[in-house]
Amino acid sequence: MKHGTLGRVRGRLGPIEFTSEELTRVAENLCSYFFSKILDFRIVVGGRKYSVSAEVDLNTTPSTIYMYKPYHDRYPQDYEVTLLHELGHILLGPTHEQFYQYWQWLFRKDVATQVVPSEYNKFLYARRTHIFRDRWDCPDCGHSRFYKKRMNTSKCACCKSLCVRDENFQPAYVEV
Ligand SMILES: [Zn+2]
Ligand SMILES: [Zn+2]
Repeated sequence: MKHGTLGRVRGRLGPIEFTSEELTRVAENLCSYFFSKILDFRIVVGGRKYSVSAEVDLNTTPSTIYMYKPYHDRYPQDYEVTLLHELGHILLGPTHEQFYQYWQWLFRKDVATQVVPSEYNKFLYARRTHIFRDRWDCPDCGHSRFYKKRMNTSKCACCKSLCVRDENFQPAYVEV
């Protein structure tokens, strides 16, 4: 294919609607650009998982890619690399044994730099995130602690002083 075609397609797509149909279209485009063939799969959009970007079930016919919307709402630029990762599982099986070679192979393609991260770890693992609902600050050293659940008290991890809740803290996603 000619260099830059994917860029034009991506430019035209812009922000996608996060539906099974749209994602299937994007995944089929990725297949034809990167693999020169369309793999057999179906895509299901899931909503309940928050810290996972996607999963693949290779035991269905065809294989099922679950794309989790809450994650991609936070990282709207990541849906293509997520799809390439999951398509990799359809090509190579459930483990990451051959993924380093897969990533290198993808990266050699003309269009790769627009989609494929230049760090292998970013390709291998989705960003891990947690939602924190409670924040406490240490009055003595200024250290902050974040909690997934609301706490009754908190002691500073550094100096063991009693911390003070930040009453204005809004639940937030923090990359870990
Ligand atoms: Zn994987
Ligand atoms: Zn402290």
